[in-house]
Amino acid sequence: MKEGDRMKIEKYCIRGNMDFHLCDIKTGDTSRLSRGPKAEEAIAGNILELTKLQDVLYAYNKYGVLVILQAMDAAGKDGIIKHIMSGLNPQGVQVTPFKVPSAEELDHDYLWRSHGHLPERGNIAIFNRSYYEDVLVVKVHNLLESQNMPDDLVKKDIWQKRYRQLRDFEQYMSENGIVVMKFFLHISMEEQANRLLERIDNPDKNWKFSAGDLNEREFWTQYQNAYEEMIQATATVAAPWHVIPADHKWFARLLVSEILVQRLKELPIKYPALSPEDEAALAGFRKQLTDSR
Ligand code: ADP
Repeated sequence: MKEGDRMKIEKYCIRGNMDFHLCDIKTGDTSRLSRGPKAEEAIAGNILELTKLQDVLYAYNKYGVLVILQAMDAAGKDGIIKHIMSGLNPQGVQVTPFKVPSAEELDHDYLWRSHGHLPERGNIAIFNRSYYEDVLVVKVHNLLESQNMPDDLVKKDIWQKRYRQLRDFEQYMSENGIVVMKFFLHISMEEQANRLLERIDNPDKNWKFSAGDLNEREFWTQYQNAYEEMIQATATVAAPWHVIPADHKWFARLLVSEILVQRLKELPIKYPALSPEDEAALAGFRKQLTDSR
């Protein structure tokens, strides 16, 4: 895509110290674009650009990229991951789903289970859910007790403390060469109902249906409030949140791929240049190979 034709992504980017409310971004927004071959072409173009950027990232081997995806059920996290991954070299990407913590995980501090999955230099790590569940589901369902925290530390200000810990953790990552990109797929309650119904009605999607998702719908408002507060408190310049209107799957895929391309393009990455000695050595190897043919 020509630079002048690039989508405007700033509207969806929350960087901190902003008076942000979830209702500022409509779940059905499509940035005045329409579904169709043009949008599909743009997505395919972005995936191609991502493939090239990943190659440079891998060759440069100094930055790692952490992509965090958070959303209500059926908002399209899996589809986005499939799309992004479709063009990437599997050697340089790892996807980690964050599920209900195991007994071993609950025996540690809540960030423990993330550390081993942070991206290596040159790699992209995708978190399907993340440590943000520890200020979302844990807050909405009051699960702190199961986290074995000392009683005297479980006070009202625990969420503010966790937001601060997450800001600090992400600042630490960014100061150590890990680029943190956070996405919240913002879907309406009506569209979620449509997608859950589709999971019931379409036999190929039955396996995706979970009665637990219906139960979580009862807590819709609490989740929206928790998301809003969490985004306000943890959006920073180092690790901004991107709120993605997700009622239209094609638009969410277009916007996420566009944001990834634009952010990766900002990184000062390049293919490593050879030193004069290495170049001379390469010329020697070339001669050796051609002479031996
Ligand atoms: P997904 O919905 O991401 O496709 P699952 O259906 O397996 O995957 O759901 C994972 C579940 O794990 C979600 O309900 C999520 O809230 C829960 N979960 C993730 N992290 C935590 C956590 N730290 N504490 C409690 N529950 C968690």
